[in-house]
Amino acid sequence: MPRHIKVPESGEKIRVENDNLVVPDQPILGYVEGDGIGPDITRACLRIWDAAVEKAYGGKRKIHWCEIFLGEKAAGIYDGDYFPQESLEAFQDLTVSIKGPLTTPVGGGFRSLNVALRQDLDLYACVRPVRHYAGVPSPLKHPGKVDVVIFRENTEDVYCGIEFKAGSDENAKLAKFLREELDANFFDNAGLGIKPISEFGSKRLVRKAIQYAIDHGRESVTLVHKGNIMKFTEGAFRNWGYEVAREEFGDVTITEEELYNEYKGKQPEGKIVVKDRIADIMFQMMLLRPEEFDVLATMNLNGDYLSDAVAAEVGGVGIAPGANMSDHVAVFEATHGTAPKYAGLDKVNPGSLLFSGVMMLEYLGWQEAADLITLAYPEVITDGVVTYDFARQIPGATEVKTSEFADALIERMSGGVDLEAKRQQQQDLLAKERRQREIRRLLEPMEEMVATGKVPTAVADLMTRSLITVRDEETVEAAMHVMADNSVNALVVEPDSDGQWGILTKRDIITKIVNGSRNPASTRVAEIATRPLVSVPIETTVREAANILSEKHFSRLTIEQGGRVVGMVSEDDIFETVEKFGWTAE
Ligand code: NAP
Repeated sequence: MPRHIKVPESGEKIRVENDNLVVPDQPILGYVEGDGIGPDITRACLRIWDAAVEKAYGGKRKIHWCEIFLGEKAAGIYDGDYFPQESLEAFQDLTVSIKGPLTTPVGGGFRSLNVALRQDLDLYACVRPVRHYAGVPSPLKHPGKVDVVIFRENTEDVYCGIEFKAGSDENAKLAKFLREELDANFFDNAGLGIKPISEFGSKRLVRKAIQYAIDHGRESVTLVHKGNIMKFTEGAFRNWGYEVAREEFGDVTITEEELYNEYKGKQPEGKIVVKDRIADIMFQMMLLRPEEFDVLATMNLNGDYLSDAVAAEVGGVGIAPGANMSDHVAVFEATHGTAPKYAGLDKVNPGSLLFSGVMMLEYLGWQEAADLITLAYPEVITDGVVTYDFARQIPGATEVKTSEFADALIERMSGGVDLEAKRQQQQDLLAKERRQREIRRLLEPMEEMVATGKVPTAVADLMTRSLITVRDEETVEAAMHVMADNSVNALVVEPDSDGQWGILTKRDIITKIVNGSRNPASTRVAEIATRPLVSVPIETTVREAANILSEKHFSRLTIEQGGRVVGMVSEDDIFETVEKFGWTAE
């Protein structure tokens, strides 16, 4: 196999030890120039990143760049091979790399190079931070309120390519199986696709999103899904997401319900709120109340739509950065394409690749260098020094070449940016906004929930989580005191010798004690409790729960997860939800 990659002898490779990235002061990082406009923007960005590192650390830290070849440049060097094995190994070996856009060769037999890279390196998380930089043209009135990091699952969902064309033999086989074996109902001659969403895939993505929120002091992680319709794929993603939060990050996360119910809307120091939103509402919310959202965890398709839509809110896809990551290996990349008509003209905006590099510096833990670029950038833009794409949107701006934009930014950084003052300013603003949100939640909790897009869809959203239990051998009188002391209408009765959970309600007491003329002090809970308890799984929808309650003439159901009773839902809960949130047919 031909070898063309020259790993610099100066510098050290990044290592992974005990599941942590060990970044030396002189790391070797990979870069791929890319096709089309790739060389123009890469050249400019390498200069900016190096200048930022030099300015921030005065020579103590320095990146040693190693060129990796993919796309057209690789094809020229490796005898027509667009995706050389040596390059794949280099991404793995160097752990952290950055790449320009690549042309996908047209014609049969080629996987998109980006897709191939994702699959071969198992880069399961596509990470897209979206925030606004002062001066950048935006269609929003207050684009500064947008500051989210989207973690999109990269390997599953309808993107798995498990699709069968209408009219094909495979399609006919699957259609027959679905109809005859699984009682499925759909029109004839339908194209069929499969949407796999796994526990493993969902959990590793959400785990990464929560870890990011912890590492970067973010306020919340929102699970975006359409679980009200697709319960066992999108709904399962949501449930697995909450499970990871609870089981692996229980000491640093709380749910939105806990935020409202236990903490009265005031977010406790050091805790991240984990919440969920229905995907279509999320699109509305990112326009109406973007400041409510911080880190978003999504499945593949929703994330694809959402990341471009949100990027457009703050100045277009042209400057949105991104990265594809596995547990440690990370490939940062420009999110736009190769714009071939501008290739070699030194004309286009380097913003997308530039900020992908900022993400990369943050990933290394080199926050000071990252901040220098982030803080100097808006100053150059507000001076009106911009590339052609912004120049056509900002009246009176001066259009500069890609390389000239880099010069202006480097000059601004070396002139010194008062990092501390700017950081303080930003933190004060964030703290102020956070206080305002807390006050709103405290004063008008229900209105706030509705205004921020929370819609209860599954019983998990409305159930009472803090269950109060009694044992069979206790007296009904004692149980009545527990009900009165805790202002509840029902108690869960712990399992009997057959392992059956039970329930004791006020109605039981009225009908079986008062109406039955028995003495509560000498009657045991076991004698009047209802068993077996009707439990439904946590993903049961509100409508299904209502259905069971009315069919069975019960007034409450217990909610079960992993073989344990974790909550209770009553007719009153459903009534209140419909009264407050309204009800529309799904
Ligand atoms: P594109 O290359 O992103 O270009 C579309 C338009 O977006 C450009 O004509 C330009 O608009 C604007 N644009 C893109 N990058 C810009 C920048 N840095 N500065 C200013 N404006 C920029 O999309 P495409 O034409 O659909 O795709 C071209 C090739 O790129 C295809 O071969 C495709 O497969 C590949 N591609 C690669 C990647 C990747 O490697 N990640 C991603 C997407 C596409 P105006 O003309 O209006 O100024």
